[in-house]
Amino acid sequence: MDSKKIGILGGGQLGRMMNEAAARLNIQTIILDQENAPAKQISNQKHINGSFADPESIKLLAKESDILTVEIEHVDTKTLQSVVESGVPVHPDPTTIRTIQDKYQQKQFLLAQDPSIPISPFRELTGNLEQDLKKAGQEYGYPLMLKSKTLAYDGRGNKVVKSEAEAAEAIKALGGGPANNGPGLYVEKFVKFVKELAVMVAKSSDGTIASYPCVETVQKDNICHLVIAPAQIDGLVREKAQVIAESIAKAFSGVGIYGVELFMLEDGDLTFNEIAPRPHNSGHYTIEACHTSQFEQHLRCVAGLPLASTAMKVPASIMINIIGKGDGDEGLKETLEPCKNSLSIPGATVHLYGKSGCKKGRKMGHITLVGESMSELLSHTKHLMNTPVPKPA
Ligand code: ATP
Ligand code: MG
Ligand code: MG
Repeated sequence: MDSKKIGILGGGQLGRMMNEAAARLNIQTIILDQENAPAKQISNQKHINGSFADPESIKLLAKESDILTVEIEHVDTKTLQSVVESGVPVHPDPTTIRTIQDKYQQKQFLLAQDPSIPISPFRELTGNLEQDLKKAGQEYGYPLMLKSKTLAYDGRGNKVVKSEAEAAEAIKALGGGPANNGPGLYVEKFVKFVKELAVMVAKSSDGTIASYPCVETVQKDNICHLVIAPAQIDGLVREKAQVIAESIAKAFSGVGIYGVELFMLEDGDLTFNEIAPRPHNSGHYTIEACHTSQFEQHLRCVAGLPLASTAMKVPASIMINIIGKGDGDEGLKETLEPCKNSLSIPGATVHLYGKSGCKKGRKMGHITLVGESMSELLSHTKHLMNTPVPKPA
């Protein structure tokens, strides 16, 4: 389909699913990550062992590839910039990846572009972190959301601060700030949302923008557990979410797919949470439920191929994340119970990521359900999440 070799920084589950889509289109990929990373297991091409944060490994990847892209934002963007200067395109732009990888910067950047984007008030902690945090508490009230600016995922850089008395402890829990070799910190006013929504937006090199239907994401302990597609909300709010997500993705330069997370308030108003410059957990359902998956769409953007339809081809879909329930083989057995149970459900597809070992809280795979009605899928979901696998007689 395209003769250009695409180098991918990161070989986790997102790279694995990108690789699946690439294989179907005869697009060659080279993965940069540690040996036997999930994405490498499904293609026997020559890959590169190394870190996506290591300059030498990135330069080697660029030498072997015609175009680079990422499946993770925590990459070395300075080296990626030099790769662009050497003539190898990188999608999305390294400057965009750099802005987005710092969650404080991405919000500052967006407000500078368009002050009307709805964002909950936020501020960085600079001098005396504890004093700054308490000052924010006086202004925003409690609870407060304290966040790491960088290297955050699955809520691992977040700490809810319930009162002034918890300030010092919360700062310590997130690494103590740069003076203690921890990441930079900022604080956000807590959003009393009724639902969390997400929209995947594709931006192609000819300037075309296409967004997928707005979905609802359900998080537990800060990790996404379920994605409900389309979101079961007023159609006008769904449309508004798509419009806001497209304008946010448009503000960043660079082609590819972007995941935009939003909060929905009781009155249907929407507030921006964060954006990811890559395929996103909330878009996994697109593999079975949409005409074209987020992964193929991303490759089309990166390779300069035309965008395809983002529409759903089934009335309803639910994605269930398979999250490690415990460590080691025992943990894995319990974790995989819903996958085994799903084998007898029509319209269920299991994806396992080939991770090296099971750990509590680690994303090990997902199940996508598709069907004619949301009520039918919700009842399957309830069954899968609550019922243990029957023991053999
Ligand atoms: P991801 O894996 O999505 O990249 P992350 O580690 O970057 O996650 P966030 O998306 O910032 O973390 O936050 C994780 C979750 O914490 C959100 O989905 C939401 O449930 C909750 N949350 C984040 N910010 C706020 C806020 N300001 N007010 C209330 N809840 C919040
Ligand atoms: Mg994030
Ligand atoms: Mg998030």
